[in-house]
Amino acid sequence: MPRIAKVVVELSLGREFDYLVPEALQKELRVGSRVVVPFGRREVRGYVVGFAEDSDVGKLKEIDSLAGEGTVVPEKLIQLARWMAEYYLAPVEQALKAVLPAAVRRHGARYRHRLFVTTTVAAADEIAVTSLRKRARRQARVLDVLRERGGMFLSELAKAAGTTTATVRSLERKGFVSIGSRRDRRDPLTSRVYLPTQPLPLMDQQKEALASIEKAMDAGRPDVLLLFGVTGSGKTEVYLQAIDHALALGRGAIVLVPEISLTPQTVERFLGRFGEKIAVLHSRLSDGERHDEWYRIREGRARIVIGARSAVFAPVENLGLIVVDEEHETTYKQEEAPRYNARDVAVVRGRLERCVVVLGSATPSLESFYNARRGKYRLIRLPHRVDHRRMPSVHVVDMRIEAQRSGKVHLLSRDLVEAMRARLERAEQVMLFLNRRGYSTSLICPKCGYVARCGSCSVALTFHRDTQLLCCHICGFRQPVPERCPNPECGDPAFRYAGMGTQKVEDVVRRIFPRASVQRMDSDSTTRKKAHQEILGDFRSGKIDILIGTQMIAKGLHFPNVTLVGVIYADLTLHMPDFRSAERTFQLLTQVAGRAGRGDVAGEVIVQTYTPYSPAIQAARRMDYDAFFDQEVEFRHELQYPPATRMLCINMAGKVEEAVSFSAEKFMGVLRPELSSEVILSGPAPAPIARARGFYRYQIFLRCRRPAAMTVPLRKVLADFKWPKGISCSVDMDPQSLL
Ligand code: ADP
Ligand code: ZN
Repeated sequence: MPRIAKVVVELSLGREFDYLVPEALQKELRVGSRVVVPFGRREVRGYVVGFAEDSDVGKLKEIDSLAGEGTVVPEKLIQLARWMAEYYLAPVEQALKAVLPAAVRRHGARYRHRLFVTTTVAAADEIAVTSLRKRARRQARVLDVLRERGGMFLSELAKAAGTTTATVRSLERKGFVSIGSRRDRRDPLTSRVYLPTQPLPLMDQQKEALASIEKAMDAGRPDVLLLFGVTGSGKTEVYLQAIDHALALGRGAIVLVPEISLTPQTVERFLGRFGEKIAVLHSRLSDGERHDEWYRIREGRARIVIGARSAVFAPVENLGLIVVDEEHETTYKQEEAPRYNARDVAVVRGRLERCVVVLGSATPSLESFYNARRGKYRLIRLPHRVDHRRMPSVHVVDMRIEAQRSGKVHLLSRDLVEAMRARLERAEQVMLFLNRRGYSTSLICPKCGYVARCGSCSVALTFHRDTQLLCCHICGFRQPVPERCPNPECGDPAFRYAGMGTQKVEDVVRRIFPRASVQRMDSDSTTRKKAHQEILGDFRSGKIDILIGTQMIAKGLHFPNVTLVGVIYADLTLHMPDFRSAERTFQLLTQVAGRAGRGDVAGEVIVQTYTPYSPAIQAARRMDYDAFFDQEVEFRHELQYPPATRMLCINMAGKVEEAVSFSAEKFMGVLRPELSSEVILSGPAPAPIARARGFYRYQIFLRCRRPAAMTVPLRKVLADFKWPKGISCSVDMDPQSLL
């Protein structure tokens, strides 16, 4: 037994400390144990993250005791946290915090215990009960309820019998019942109803996909499979049956979904198939619920976990499968330290646990597809929709020509209006889509496509209808709406009325189709009025003819009666100052198009744009992922962007611009000689959002195929570099947003 334990303490120190293992704890202590250790003059809590035979430190202190309810974090998760700390350059205790929810970590976190009532042998004595019925009717009723149900929590029992807890106490005094404390599970799903389902007979393409996944699982080796299947090709059914296989092998599974509140239908399908075996983790759980779910998983009572990003750390023992649904989604990236990407963490966890990871998408990220092309991941395609329904036809409308043709400019093109009219006449449904809510309320000249921007923040200004002002959401700058389009070559007066928000779209649609039932769904409408579940329910049941929304409506929803999807302004994502802007546009358009024509009628998609010939829009029109990939990867290779290389971004910020740029230059000067020639170093330069909330922002980029060639020297430089007061620095490995 090793004598020395490596401990990470719950202080922000970014390192591990050595402690002696006392005789009494020799047996019990393992990697993942929570302990109390002396630190300076205090006692602090920490985790054992490893053992060693000897130490560089001369005089070591002893571990004091085990902490908490003897919680042990699974060793694989400790290893995962150490990997994250290294790869994402995060302090190790911060990585551990990400792995272990606060609700479990917190001092004193424990199960809730409540008073529980059970019957005693006296309750079976019919003579005594009969006499009780005569003398104390209420007590007798309590006893009847209890005998029917077995045992119940005190307060629920009193309620069910229509009486007070005092009545139950009287029964206890008479010896009919006993009251004790019992662990109560705080169940986040008690109010949910779901229909149990059975596995469906699979289509050929699904059978092949499932067979590959099962074979990989049977081999007992870590393996990553990229399941590239068009929307509606039956990926989810494949996940469900692959999980069945994991359970049959006695192993558990984790399913990651991008944002649990946006994918209620997916969650319901998992619940319907697996019911009680599932634990659902999402951000709206109370601390108590989170604590109980964690232990339900840890103790093996829930073998399947479904959840967003952080569910990748669920303490499932003997993990057999991790599914990352919609693996291309940016919500898998955590935008604060540790800045991990749950998809990539899933792949690493799969390696540690020797289990299979399935990445699923209709529009794989370029990174994942690149890995598949190079043989690092195995590619499985589901090229057809279930029942071989046709893919929708996509129709691109050039809004510049539209403006010239009609002399006036409209939010909805003639083609779109006609197509909508035809659908309404046939009692079919329509979805109108405006991507990126943040930009959706900006003023875009309907004639030339000019976007009003903030002079000092390099972001589009947002139009506020109530005050009639253009505002910058970053610095707070505001100005009245210009009378004409500020583009000197345009100057169109229609600019003034060009607000492109979903609200405006709603107004226009209501005006054109006064008898249709129209509903808008974006984060404004859903916080104020109906919950979006309710809106989606109304849409599914046909109460709504036209649903207008942001990307919220683009994801994972199935509406068989939707035969037309209109994209109001496809260029919005293209204008982002980000090397992934084309990829994002292609993904969004493909996802949106996937909403159309799931029923018996073929769907149609109408895409309105000012840049109809951009490759992303053309590839989306032809639904040709491979062509888009080839072209885009060539561009990424040429400019040395991911996936052709790895990227790391150093962000620096401060209130005084000169100080930020000076420190950035100085840091760069120290860093440069430490890097080998294989690393491309660029910057420092102002970030695309150069100033935010009064802080000036600068960036330095490192690019290299080998992550360690960047992280190892950078860690060394960061450890020694003294940032002046008021300047902050953060490191983002594999950044998703470059703003
Ligand atoms: P994806 O996840 O690829 O978008 P889904 O798994 O949601 O596709 O499948 C789309 C629809 O087809 C769902 O309503 C699903 O219930 C149905 N479906 C999937 N597989 C089958 C099958 N083998 N037989 C019949 N219906 C299926
Ligand atoms: Zn601004």
